[in-house]
Amino acid sequence: MNTNPRLDWAFDWLKGEKRLYIGGEWVQASQRATFVSTNPANQNSLATLSEASRSDIDSAVSQARSAFRGSWPKQDRRERARILRKIGELVRTHKEELATLEALDNGKTYREALYDDLPDSADVFDYYAGWTDKLYGESCPVEDGFVNFTQHEPLGVCALIVPWNFPLLLAAWKIAPALAMGNTVVIKPSPFTSLSLVRLAQLIDGSKLLPPGVFNLVLGGVEAGEALSSHPDIDKISFTGSTAIGAQIVQASGRSNLKSVSLELGGKAPNIIFDDVKDLPAVIDRSFNLMFSQKGEKCTEPTRFFLHEKIYDQFSAGLIEKAKAAICGDPFDPVTTQGAQCHKAHFEKILAYIEIGKKEGAQLLVGGNRDSASGNEKGFFVRPTIFGNVQNKMQIARDEIFGPVLCLLKFSDEEQVIAEANDTPYGLAAGVYSDDAKRAMRVAQKLDAGMVFVNHYGCYHFSSPFGGIKQSGWGHEMARHSLESYTRLKSIWVKY
Ligand code: NAD
Repeated sequence: MNTNPRLDWAFDWLKGEKRLYIGGEWVQASQRATFVSTNPANQNSLATLSEASRSDIDSAVSQARSAFRGSWPKQDRRERARILRKIGELVRTHKEELATLEALDNGKTYREALYDDLPDSADVFDYYAGWTDKLYGESCPVEDGFVNFTQHEPLGVCALIVPWNFPLLLAAWKIAPALAMGNTVVIKPSPFTSLSLVRLAQLIDGSKLLPPGVFNLVLGGVEAGEALSSHPDIDKISFTGSTAIGAQIVQASGRSNLKSVSLELGGKAPNIIFDDVKDLPAVIDRSFNLMFSQKGEKCTEPTRFFLHEKIYDQFSAGLIEKAKAAICGDPFDPVTTQGAQCHKAHFEKILAYIEIGKKEGAQLLVGGNRDSASGNEKGFFVRPTIFGNVQNKMQIARDEIFGPVLCLLKFSDEEQVIAEANDTPYGLAAGVYSDDAKRAMRVAQKLDAGMVFVNHYGCYHFSSPFGGIKQSGWGHEMARHSLESYTRLKSIWVKY
């Protein structure tokens, strides 16, 4: 049952072609090319959108370059902060609309969109507003007779490319620090989930807060992405997406102008639970939610649970019970706990991995199929799936599935479990649970991951760097680390 009062607004808003936002104007793609966005919960068409060609990308970059030569990078820092806060306020004021578009386009539940995605999508603008005048340079201790100091300068034109799992949130994580440092941006969402960013661009446009060309939105997929990553007049690409495309972006940068690249890529996170954990039900509860919320489409989700052999049966029984109780269905129905996978090819990929798991000899404990509830026939719904007795060398334990598919692995020895947890090409996140503080810290130190969660998987804060190592990425979002990636460091020498 749909109870969302914004749905009527959304269906009205979806009418008419959604265009590119370039140089402060709404423009059709130069070839009049379009693509259609589809609701993954029922495969109904949602909206027609302009599809940017290379010449549209050229035009967006040219507008961003002109704006960078204009007043924006020299803007009074307090004024820039005020503008960022106002953008955050726009997101906050329109959060129900934006969450509705996100749920329609991505398939996540409206509740997840409203309570997980939207608050931080607004607050990150406040956080970086506070940084516009706080990224200090250094005074360097050089020889007598000289003064040497460093300063952070804006980089220039930044292309921001984001995936479909948190369309608005991941974009806001990039837009806010890039603008805070005085850059101009060209942002490209995933073709599967462009709507919330079109709405954000409308809000920014209507507010007249930014000079034309400071914020540009281009729509499309591979062609638009390649045109950005190989463009000779872009200074930086900030990319969030798959490891495979991240590697292509690095190559395109090398072939074009060696633009700076930062990458937030895939993951296959381990979550290690020792047998000394006293409050096992609480850990089961949080672990299940972290794994299966947002239908498992999270880069940091703990997809490999390493369970000590003494608690393996109790822990897996608790997870299975929760998986059986999950309700897949209409993202706007308040009883739904799990929405639809974002698009058809992805849905089919998840089902194919489930078949691989069965063939590899993993024990299917629960799920393993599309949801068959009445009304879900046309939607991309996958039952929460748990495989037991998984071996770390199996493909389901090595590849990023990016869906509601969990692998349970049994262990008995601390060194062995650390070695297995680290035996993956990825290094985004990892978790360890133990009531023995020394052991928990010892293991945390040895885990190869950009983020390690001890006794509470999945903590995030703007003040803490977010990023992966190994094939999970280069650089960090959040905190001052993100700002550094949107600036260039200059060392100035003065003889006196
Ligand atoms: P994807 O790599 O297929 O696409 C990401 C973006 O890149 C999209 O906007 C897409 O249109 C664009 N793109 C496609 N081909 C391109 C090319 N050749 N050049 C430039 N851009 C191109 O990823 P996806 O399927 O949209 O998202 C899922 C992936 O994102 C998963 O691997 C997930 O782990 C990762 N992810 C990582 C993080 C993180 O912070 N580490 C966060 C969210 C998602």
